[in-house]
Amino acid sequence: MEPPVRSRDDRPFAAGGTGARGRPLPSEDRAGFIARHGLWSDAQYAAAAQLRRVIDETGVELVRVAFADQHGVLRGKTATRSSLAEALRSGVTAPSSLLLKDTSGKSVFPVFSPDAPPGLGGAGDIVLVPDPATFRVIPWAARTGWVLCDVRFPDGTPVPFCSRGILRGQLAALAGRGYRMTVGAELEFHVFRAGPFGADRVGAPGAPGAAPGVLPTTPGAQLLHEEALDGLDELVQALHQGLTALDLPLRSLELEFGPSQLELTMEAADAAVTADAVTVCRTAVRQIARRLGYQVTFMSRPQGAETASAGWHLHQSLTEAATGRPAFMPEAGEPEAGDPERNQAGHGVRGPLSATGQAYLEGILRHAAAATAFAAPTVNGYKRFQAYSLAPDRVAWGIDNKGAMARVVGGPGDPASRVENRTGEPAANPYLYIASQLASGMDGLARGLTLRPPTDDPYGADAARLPRSLGEAVAALDRDEALRAALTPEVADWYAAIKRSEFDRYLRHVSDWEQREYLGLF
Ligand code: GLU
Ligand code: MG
Repeated sequence: MEPPVRSRDDRPFAAGGTGARGRPLPSEDRAGFIARHGLWSDAQYAAAAQLRRVIDETGVELVRVAFADQHGVLRGKTATRSSLAEALRSGVTAPSSLLLKDTSGKSVFPVFSPDAPPGLGGAGDIVLVPDPATFRVIPWAARTGWVLCDVRFPDGTPVPFCSRGILRGQLAALAGRGYRMTVGAELEFHVFRAGPFGADRVGAPGAPGAAPGVLPTTPGAQLLHEEALDGLDELVQALHQGLTALDLPLRSLELEFGPSQLELTMEAADAAVTADAVTVCRTAVRQIARRLGYQVTFMSRPQGAETASAGWHLHQSLTEAATGRPAFMPEAGEPEAGDPERNQAGHGVRGPLSATGQAYLEGILRHAAAATAFAAPTVNGYKRFQAYSLAPDRVAWGIDNKGAMARVVGGPGDPASRVENRTGEPAANPYLYIASQLASGMDGLARGLTLRPPTDDPYGADAARLPRSLGEAVAALDRDEALRAALTPEVADWYAAIKRSEFDRYLRHVSDWEQREYLGLF
């Protein structure tokens, strides 16, 4: 019998008699949409070859071909083995209206009208172009792989509203300045026991169904309590196994302060890699948990667990691309960050950031209000900005101060000298959150801004408040010309329109708070 031809597989489905292994994927074909428009680098072609080998060897039959939408939520199609070769040549199509929806699935732009955003009318196709370097085998779903995509128009041009592309654009601008960005993620989240899926869960665009019924899993107020975490050991083990099998750089899992609240941390890595990792990690955690009867949420303040919010503290630093030198690490004797007297008196710490780091941080602070629209993109996230909660409520920085919006850690000799922005909520779109930081920080670099003094009174400092609502943050974004220009006005307007729609729906909703407060009294 002739040996199977690896580049052509025209045998019937079961002829090999060995499942997937008997039907190898064609080794490569540069004849499709991806080659025509030159969308892959040599490294991506090499990664695609590796992907094919892994699929052949592990017997993967299904591959989830997914992109991160404006909310950082993965959407896509599950390609069968027989359609995968074509997906790797030409991508997978999806309706362009996916890029026009708010968190309830409601399109907030006209779709079937000439007023639709350019190229996104008629719910016509966009093309999801797999990035083979992101391929993973999913450990909890049988014979299933996963690949993240970039979004292109059918003529091969980039779609401006591709979250991954938006971050890549900022990273390219940063590379133009001679730097790379490193980001570490700390994600807090809530774990509940899941109730049954009832008929009331059914929703509609603009009108989501009832939230899942949930029961608490830990009583709260016992930070880092090992025994309480042991009570969730089944989940901890499954998360560890699942996330590490996905090659996510998981560093720790711990019990957080709030009831039913946990935290996970990942190793700091290249910004684009971390953005992908957080995107995959959040949905992975929910999927793994659901299989064990838990409901995990990365929303900031779920009802029934209000003692503590969930935050996403974004640790960031730059590296000089040419030398590999940590660009935020100060040299001994470099000028002090902020007010020297206060630094010495308050902390005895000298110069926690280099001049580059100081200018970058001042950029982060100047654009904080507008960038909050990305760091805290939900209505719920603003209920987190409360004094003395370890979440920030105003625009200030401090030296290793966890009440400050920006916590700076490091100093001479510490290559991990960095800025930790504590504004974010874990529901933030990782690509847009990180892109907004870069755009802000780079403005600080471009203008050579001088860093304001630090605070050791983060909840009492005479400093501007963070936006009090999603509406305020979006209005700040509308006003911030530098941030708009950096992200492009087209992207800023698109994002603001989506978030405004979400906020307007919220304002129209009558809540149980109003009912309790007023109905009986008035
Ligand atoms: N849960 C707090 C927040 O919302 C952070 C607690 C901590 O410092 O780990 O940011
Ligand atoms: Mg924490």
